[in-house]
Amino acid sequence: MSCTVFGQPDPLDYIMGKVNYAEDDRFAKIPSSIANKEGMYLRKEALEAFQKMRKAAAEDGITLRIMSAARSFNHQKQIWEGKWNGNRLVDGKNMKTAISDPAERARFIMKYSSMPGTSRHHWGTDIDINSFNPDYFDSGRGQKEYQWLVDNAHRFGFCQTYTEKDKERPHGYEEEKWHWTYMPIAKPLLTFFKNNVTGADMKGFDGAGSIPFEEVQKYVFGISKECQ
Ligand SMILES: [Zn+2]
Repeated sequence: MSCTVFGQPDPLDYIMGKVNYAEDDRFAKIPSSIANKEGMYLRKEALEAFQKMRKAAAEDGITLRIMSAARSFNHQKQIWEGKWNGNRLVDGKNMKTAISDPAERARFIMKYSSMPGTSRHHWGTDIDINSFNPDYFDSGRGQKEYQWLVDNAHRFGFCQTYTEKDKERPHGYEEEKWHWTYMPIAKPLLTFFKNNVTGADMKGFDGAGSIPFEEVQKYVFGISKECQ
């Protein structure tokens, strides 16, 4: 295991987002000029690769902007519990009152959101680009941007993690045309997750244990062929 990828002292904490990105020198702050908000972080290598990709896109008249990057366990917990407890609507619905069965509620939230500890955003290798609205990418500017990424992102080490669900990707989150992963670092991290994270690590948030860990794993490993 290489320290440059996994870091010290505890790679299990890192993989689950228990990291202070601002104080960890494997991470770099994303300039606000290329993001939609201040104070986001990425692994340095991923940010460098994104900058190169962004420049190449700009030369083709395409603007790429980071909407979301590294996200800690606590940040993911806020998002998750907001949805779990009905303080943040999902598809316009209050999950707490709409779905009483914990497993069903978890599955509904997990169409697009990860359980804390299992998000690839914890790793600082994954970014959301330009919009979270699936419709945005279906026409006009969004469609052009997405097509550019499909044609070119691989040249910079990025791939679309959650492609359309089909025979090759039967399990996991719904399609996300905005979510791209920096493979050179994400790949060994996924292997680390596979070998080290267990059901016992699913704790510290409301709704932990609502579905079996084997099912949680299907989301984590349910990624596109290109990203494997
Ligand atoms: Zn994402």
